[in-house]
Amino acid sequence: MNRPIVRHAPIVPGVPHLLHGGDYNPDQWRASKETTWKEDMRLARLAGINTLSVGIFAWAALEPEEGRYEFGWLDEILDLMAENDLTAVLATPTGARPGWMSRAYPEVLRVNRDRTKNRHGGRHNHCLTSPVYREKTTAVNTALAERYQDHPALGVWHLSNEYGGECHCDLCQERFRAYLQTRFSSLDELNESWWTAFWAKTYGDWSHIESPSEHGHGEQDIHGLQLEWMRFTTEQFVDFYEHETAPLKAITPDVPRTTNLMGTYPGIDYYRLAQALDVVSWDSYPEWTGTGKDVAKGARASFLHDLTRSLKGKPFMLMESSPSATNWRPVAKLHRPGVHLLQSLQAVAHGSDTVQYFQFRKGRGGSEKFHGAVVDHEGTERTRVFQDVAEVGARLAELDGVVGTDTPADVAVVYDWHLRWALEDQKGMLQGRTDYEGAVVAHYRAFWEQGVPTDVIDSSLIARPGYLDRYKVLVAPMLYMLRPGVAEAIDAFVRRGGTFVATYATGYVDEHDRTFLGGFPGPLRETLGIWAEEIDALYPEDRNSIEWDGASYEAVELCELIHAETAETLGAYGSDFYAGRPALTVNRRGEGRAYFVAARTGDDFLAEFYGRVVAESGAERALDADLPAGVTAQVRTDGTTDFVFLLNFNPAAASVETGGGTVELAPFGTAVVERARA
Ligand SMILES: [Zn+2]
Repeated sequence: MNRPIVRHAPIVPGVPHLLHGGDYNPDQWRASKETTWKEDMRLARLAGINTLSVGIFAWAALEPEEGRYEFGWLDEILDLMAENDLTAVLATPTGARPGWMSRAYPEVLRVNRDRTKNRHGGRHNHCLTSPVYREKTTAVNTALAERYQDHPALGVWHLSNEYGGECHCDLCQERFRAYLQTRFSSLDELNESWWTAFWAKTYGDWSHIESPSEHGHGEQDIHGLQLEWMRFTTEQFVDFYEHETAPLKAITPDVPRTTNLMGTYPGIDYYRLAQALDVVSWDSYPEWTGTGKDVAKGARASFLHDLTRSLKGKPFMLMESSPSATNWRPVAKLHRPGVHLLQSLQAVAHGSDTVQYFQFRKGRGGSEKFHGAVVDHEGTERTRVFQDVAEVGARLAELDGVVGTDTPADVAVVYDWHLRWALEDQKGMLQGRTDYEGAVVAHYRAFWEQGVPTDVIDSSLIARPGYLDRYKVLVAPMLYMLRPGVAEAIDAFVRRGGTFVATYATGYVDEHDRTFLGGFPGPLRETLGIWAEEIDALYPEDRNSIEWDGASYEAVELCELIHAETAETLGAYGSDFYAGRPALTVNRRGEGRAYFVAARTGDDFLAEFYGRVVAESGAERALDADLPAGVTAQVRTDGTTDFVFLLNFNPAAASVETGGGTVELAPFGTAVVERARA
């Protein structure tokens, strides 16, 4: 890896341990606090828990009437936590409003895309522009920060909860138009960028612009509008986060602040939002089945962890996970033995310095009363799940050496929100089935199977000067949109000796979702040495093939018809009218190589192809060993000691030769091997 190893400080200053705990709602148990709260402290310690997240959704308990705060219960619980050496992840309560606010100030209620106004209820049902909502937020957050600034339990600020959705009210429309005037210097420029001459959509005045709606301008006509609306919504959340954190930052500057993200949630560009966070945190809910399907689920969960870590390139927090069943799934499957430890160590392996749950104690009512919890309705430590959690607690306590360690990666895979927004709007190719995320995960998985640590980055990082220098391999499946600076950075990366892999559907549109002229893949045509003339969409039952090096690999769904210009043809299509035309090419450019995979393939092709790419590029593997199928190895290091995590996602046992001996892994088993760093 071409960057120095970094040892980061613990997330909570003065707490040099992996954090273990979860969301805790003592406000739901105030009636029985004398017994329940004290029992909770005993059970937490017994489970090896050292942190609890409190105050999420507690606004009605904290401010039962406008301007009248009740902090007594929170004082008591934070004091109890401090007495029991529990670090508090203290939340601002803004994820859901108390009823008095909706009644007194209807402007705080959200307006939907169809322009209907919501009633009070649910969560995240508020307008981010509303001056009233912002004022109330500042008031309660300031009161919290002033009251608890010196409290010994305070470790991390947790802002709101799972930001999401969007608001289309008149206040937000005004703000959207103001935002657009910062993006475009004139209405003419906007019209040209959005190609509004199409279907007579040309805007004659800024005031005529409205947010997308299924009853008006939407994804059917102006793609640029939809794209800017998603960018605007992201900026709304960034701005609201900064608004919310301002009093916390002023009063408690040394307490880190975060809000919990949700993997590849499509509504917010997390690379942008992460810039505002001190530490990234996220909520991970893999849909484990207890069968061989869990290998694919494991690869996807690893991808999401790597993406989350890469947002800031440093250790993150696993803010929520389920210790067993997940209530909101159609099938709330129990975790099989071993799976809880596996998913917990998997997060740590990819850079999490915490393992946290939703939830610590199951509530008696509401939609989450059957969601997995450390403490069940039965109420004691006798449950299977409690014992699973206690096992994780004991295991994490042995891993203090991992805190703050680095996750070095020679390989980066690209995942980009703006690109996804554009690709999912486009009408052509495979409408509604472009499966951008699935394509990215499939390419990622080929590295995961080989135990090659991987970062997941977006165009904003690629375009950052010098950022790509740290990698040996850059993989960008379906790089449909090329934002400014991206093609140039990739070309420089290749010329300097990097290996770049691109696929079908690359280089079609610019940052405004306007197609490039002069042949796809647009500004990457010279880098890749190909011209993509047409793209063929296949019916689900259709098959073509890539014939490469004496073997035949299935090609499905999308087959691009390309011309090798300066590139060398390695593989060709096997059938249809384009049989014999190039399907796999390499362009040698400067010191490096740029590969092009023209069709969507199965995992067999990707495994073979990326096996060769890894060997040829010298990209580092976590373990110099052949891993059994369904087992991955990941590494964290402080520069002196490597912690190699072996993770078995098979429902059957597996063994791994580490060089120093054989490690036997149980079904869904795990091991952590320490070694001196070479
Ligand atoms: Zn609004």
